[in-house]
Amino acid sequence: MIELATSSWTDVQEHVAAGGTLAILPFGALEQHGPHLPLSTDTLQADGLARRLAARFDAILMPPVPYGQTWDNAGFPGTVSLSAATTTAVCLDLVRAVTGFGITTTVIVNGDYGNRLPLHSAAQQLATESVDVIVLDYPGLIEAGDEVKETPWAAPGLCHADEIETSLVMALAPGTVRSDRMAASYPELPADFGMRPLRFDTLSPSGVFGDPRPATADKGQRLLMLLEQHSAAAVQRHLDALGGAVHPSASAPDLS
Ligand SMILES: [Zn+2]
Repeated sequence: MIELATSSWTDVQEHVAAGGTLAILPFGALEQHGPHLPLSTDTLQADGLARRLAARFDAILMPPVPYGQTWDNAGFPGTVSLSAATTTAVCLDLVRAVTGFGITTTVIVNGDYGNRLPLHSAAQQLATESVDVIVLDYPGLIEAGDEVKETPWAAPGLCHADEIETSLVMALAPGTVRSDRMAASYPELPADFGMRPLRFDTLSPSGVFGDPRPATADKGQRLLMLLEQHSAAAVQRHLDALGGAVHPSASAPDLS
């Protein structure tokens, strides 16, 4: 793999000429994650997973996008949200730019729930331009969470500043976790949760959805490994669907 941020243009030219035409783009957010986790939590997680995928597929790793669409957390100081339209536009520009120097497939590793619609909207636009892009929204997250964590979900599949995210940040950037500030929060969610836009500060005053207290770096490493396996299997399925021989350097995923 090569990292765009630390490579020269000749490094990139050589990598692409040797058949390395797969790019991985981590897309994060600057969003509250309770009093104990940094605002860059989603960016750290997306970058951590993207880095592992880039190594596995000998791909080009793009620098993470540190902002995303996070309207639902805008009631917490420090959260800085892009509009959905801007998020879509940033994604379009970045993928078109790498396509311009020979990238044939871009894998977007999305770290933030609010980015889903804008990124899939960008992917749809790119499809009309015959640009190949897939968006990964943490495939296998529920299975991985069920396997590793001890505390219940705040809602099925909903984890925010909980045991899962806290464990991941402990593994990726341990110096940023404030263990002395950890507290559980299981907000009562309205019956129509998920059907309409909701500000998280009206649901959880601390911004936590779950229980971060049993989190450990070991659990974070285990979660990263499981998420990497699920994501790698998804990427491989896509490459196989394209016809296989496009990325001969890709190693087989070991998801069982
Ligand atoms: Zn998050």
